[in-house]
Amino acid sequence: MHIYADNAATTKMSKSAIDAMLPYFDVIYGNPSSLHSVGQKADEALVNARSRIAKQLGCEAKEITFTSGGSEADNQAIISAARIGEKKGKKHIISTAFEHHAVLHTLNKLEKEGFEVTLLDVHENGIVLPEQVADAVRDDTCLVTVMFANNEIGTIQPIKEIGQICRERGVLFHTDAVQAAGHIRIDVKEQNIDMLSLSAHKFHGPKGAGVLYAKKGIALTNLIEGGAQERGKRAGTENIPAVMGMAAALEDACSHIDENAKKISALRDRIIAGISEIPHSILNGDAEKRLPGNINFCFEGIEGESLLLLLDDKGVCASSGSACTSGSLDPSHVLLAIGRVHDVAHGSLRLSLSEENTEEEADYIIKSVKEVVEYLRSISPVWNDLINGKREFIIK
Ligand SMILES: *Cc1c(COP(=O)(O)O)cnc(C)c1O
Repeated sequence: MHIYADNAATTKMSKSAIDAMLPYFDVIYGNPSSLHSVGQKADEALVNARSRIAKQLGCEAKEITFTSGGSEADNQAIISAARIGEKKGKKHIISTAFEHHAVLHTLNKLEKEGFEVTLLDVHENGIVLPEQVADAVRDDTCLVTVMFANNEIGTIQPIKEIGQICRERGVLFHTDAVQAAGHIRIDVKEQNIDMLSLSAHKFHGPKGAGVLYAKKGIALTNLIEGGAQERGKRAGTENIPAVMGMAAALEDACSHIDENAKKISALRDRIIAGISEIPHSILNGDAEKRLPGNINFCFEGIEGESLLLLLDDKGVCASSGSACTSGSLDPSHVLLAIGRVHDVAHGSLRLSLSEENTEEEADYIIKSVKEVVEYLRSISPVWNDLINGKREFIIK
């Protein structure tokens, strides 16, 4: 068995996205800034991709800036809002404790420059409430940035309601929609979103391609200086193959969004039910308000890392949190944010499914996780103390 269940880290590219890219490597390979016909063909492709992506988000083509991915889009959105705020003497930003590091580390940088950042607490179910945002907004708030769906625990935030509050209070609202795009419905107008980040490789597109949507009138700050590409807001020759692959992947994902969500969430719920039978285990994040493909559990008495390695031996690719935090010994900041204590947060497992996974695979995953957890507990001194009453169980 080889089962890929780490789609929140990255996805396999779809055949249609690969096919959409190929001509732009060696047939239509021009530089869109060139005035000759080869260049102009590439420019036509760029115009075409921009309007197709805009259509999927419910915005205008000129509101789309192509970036190198989700991280760059998050950085540019936040820095831009900070520069706009600064000019008006507004240097307060609101975000949450469980954002992606592309957001959190950018906010850290701004704090060092004298910005004040309020990180909202996340409830145990992994949701931030609109009221929390309303209570935190001040006269000097220049930006609210709250992720659409969390990359580790999959919880979906009340984006439209938070956006509504920001509109009423005249504060810019950015959302990191990297996990949401192509998986749940996005309409930036309807959902009151001023700025949004997405990344192609999370919906079967190529790595190294992303989008920053910024509503008309929001002045972006360049992170990269140079030529006049992307209306002067992001220098560098455009990655036309990647942009074409991203447009195809997004259209593909959005046109199958309901049927995929139905199929994937049925597999998700099957796995959640199976894994929940393991004693002293707990599902992280709300059971309903979560991404169709996300499963995240903590198991008492074991180490996430060993769990992953043994699952890999059985042919199951999973994660213990985000790919970015793996390799460090710190427990996930997301699990700590929802109130898991260090010991419990260490024993976490994230499985993230795609439409390619099957029921047979789901059952194999359940069986494998049960076996591995049981084995690891059988050799764990902590587990031994727990069952002998020398330590208290945290997960009942
Ligand atoms: C993957 C991810 C990012 C980073 O996107 P890249 O394209 O890999 O830079 C940002 N935010 C979230 C929520 C993600 O899941």
